Amino acid sequence: MEIILVALILLGIWMIFHVWQENTVKESSERIKKLLELNEQTEFLDGFRSEFFYDVNLSTKPKFDRFDLNTLYDDAVRKDEQLYNSASNVLKNQQIYQDYQQKTAELESTITPEESKKIHIGYKKYKIIEEKLFCELMKKPILTGSVTCVANYRSPKGRNSYSKRKEYALNKVLERYEELKQIDANSQTEMARRSRERALMTDKLRYSILKRDGFRCQICGRTAQDGVKLHVDHIIPVSKGGRTIPSNLRTLCEDCNLGKSDELE
Ligand SMILES: [Zn+2]
Repeated sequence: MEIILVALILLGIWMIFHVWQENTVKESSERIKKLLELNEQTEFLDGFRSEFFYDVNLSTKPKFDRFDLNTLYDDAVRKDEQLYNSASNVLKNQQIYQDYQQKTAELESTITPEESKKIHIGYKKYKIIEEKLFCELMKKPILTGSVTCVANYRSPKGRNSYSKRKEYALNKVLERYEELKQIDANSQTEMARRSRERALMTDKLRYSILKRDGFRCQICGRTAQDGVKLHVDHIIPVSKGGRTIPSNLRTLCEDCNLGKSDELE
């Protein structure tokens, strides 16, 4: 009993002494003072989410197997404004932090053995406490974050469940956003091109191609008299960059046309 009491008292004294030492260092250190000034001047963005989670439940096993988690991620990057804002905050913090870190690295201890002696703390001890306080007092902004995408499938009777996940770095989100913007713009341009090319196929042009080809399928040679239906076909499909110009058009019967499209796919 008595031993415990003595131990507690000693512990108490040690703690009081420890707090006193820390306070003394904190109040006397030029290095700490400058750090606190730098902290005042440095404003990091905070109070934002840095962990994001997206999941999807697939209705069948093949859909689950085929599902590409990148599409879930891209979808979030395109649409989730909060994700975009968080990612841009992280990037801003990284920039500010780079500068902050450089400035803190320049803050060196100025305590001399004489000065530490005056305040009754050993020189080495002083440096150790100062370093510890310095690390504690350095700002710790949000510099990273993650985006987790998960796909799940659960068999109807719940016998089997499958899950796959992929993690992405939050600071890569803006880069991907810009890439997707470019991809989407290109695909819009491409869609517009295709519909322009399709619109060029007028009845007049169709007739002129049929006429040019002698109203015959250019593969099997059959005509309407043989009971086949004739089409005007793009040799290079519009979807693959083909244009609606006579040199890229030809007459085909339905059979040959279907056979041809099978070949191309
Ligand atoms: Zn034919």
